Amino acid sequence: MSKLEKFEVDSLVIGGGVSGVAIARELCTRYESVFLIERNNQIAQETSSRNSEVIHAGMYYDQDSLKSKLCLKGKELLYDYLKERKIEFNRCGKYILSSTDQESETLNGIYENGLECGVDDLMYDSSLESKYPFLAFKEAIFSPSTGIFDSHSFIHSLSRDFESEGGNVILGNEILDINESIRGFEILVEDKKTKNQFLVITKILVNSAGLNAVHIANLINEENIYKEEFVKGEYYIYQGKERLDNLIYPTPTENSLGLHATIDLGKGIRFGPSAYVVDAIDYSLSVDQKSFFLKSVQSYWPGIREQDLTPGYSGIRPKLQGEKDFVVDSGSMNNSQYVNVLGYASPGLTSSLALAIEVSNRIEVGLS
Ligand SMILES: Cc1cc2nc3c(=O)[nH]c(=O)nc-3n(C[C@H](O)[C@H](O)[C@H](O)COP(=O)(O)OP(=O)(O)OC[C@H]3O[C@@H](n4cnc5c(N)ncnc54)[C@H](O)[C@@H]3O)c2cc1C
Repeated sequence: MSKLEKFEVDSLVIGGGVSGVAIARELCTRYESVFLIERNNQIAQETSSRNSEVIHAGMYYDQDSLKSKLCLKGKELLYDYLKERKIEFNRCGKYILSSTDQESETLNGIYENGLECGVDDLMYDSSLESKYPFLAFKEAIFSPSTGIFDSHSFIHSLSRDFESEGGNVILGNEILDINESIRGFEILVEDKKTKNQFLVITKILVNSAGLNAVHIANLINEENIYKEEFVKGEYYIYQGKERLDNLIYPTPTENSLGLHATIDLGKGIRFGPSAYVVDAIDYSLSVDQKSFFLKSVQSYWPGIREQDLTPGYSGIRPKLQGEKDFVVDSGSMNNSQYVNVLGYASPGLTSSLALAIEVSNRIEVGLS
């Protein structure tokens, strides 16, 4: 290792998804030389481009959780940013439906939890039946501050901000190993094209490696206690004639907010994501899951037939076993600071600008 070329930087962010790019942009306002390393040849090629692109309002999460705090703050920051940068969004609102008495109780729990968390614009709505007569439900609540947005343009805009502040994005390079030294963390990096290896030495290290974040956390600290769980979600595209102006969600399940109907900015409709645990990262759609998928959609939209759905895409939620919340795990070693962003599944897009501030504050407190 000693013969490798070495580079010293102030801070290094691992991963060029929405969390890494937002964090790097924030760090750049506080530190001199900030580097972001991404193993793919472009940013946002993994979970950050395989999701629903929904701006969540924040009524589902436990009041004192990090998800609740970051989603509520992140939603406001995100809407402001999109407006300022003229990035396309639609504050279209969403309905959450119950289809049994038990689900109505859960729905009421979401309404009450929303109020406690500060989501004070939720309302019970009885106009849905005339608006969308093809839907079947018992009760519905409406969330006006939920929206959709062009997440791709958003992430690229954050990356441009980062680079124009002097930040450096290094693509096509993979972090292979991490060791501690008195000068900081020594990060072994490989250029995936040339196979050249080099060392980056940094006093500040942020691990926002998405589905690989637990592995990287283990490299930083062998005593890391977190275990990953991958929960896959598939999408199918609706080919029928009905149109929606709002998002339609069923009552949430344990692993997800429910297999919903999402409109895109062009008013196309897609259904998803489903939720099932997988061992490996494989984005192909499972034939075995399709009938369950169809049944879930039919629970609130009974007229949907198999031929109305064509295969879309899938994403994989980077969850932690036994943990519902996001985990921002920070600490110091030999006067160097690290932060691991773990379990960063939904509402990670919505929360990203607030997460960036949270991570940056943790580093500042750790260094002081
Ligand atoms: C099905 C689904 C639907 C969702 N819907 C929504 C939604 O509607 N609204 C919402 O707010 N959130 C949603 N989310 C959550 C959101 O998409 C994620 O929270 C967010 O995209 C995670 O971003 P990330 O940057 O942490 O991870 P990623 O986007 O996965 O980025 C991590 C990056 O790290 C890189 N990396 C990993 N290891 C290394 C290494 N060793 N060296 C270099 N680079 C490395 C990877 O290549 C990757 O680019 C959804 C998620 C899923 C799965």
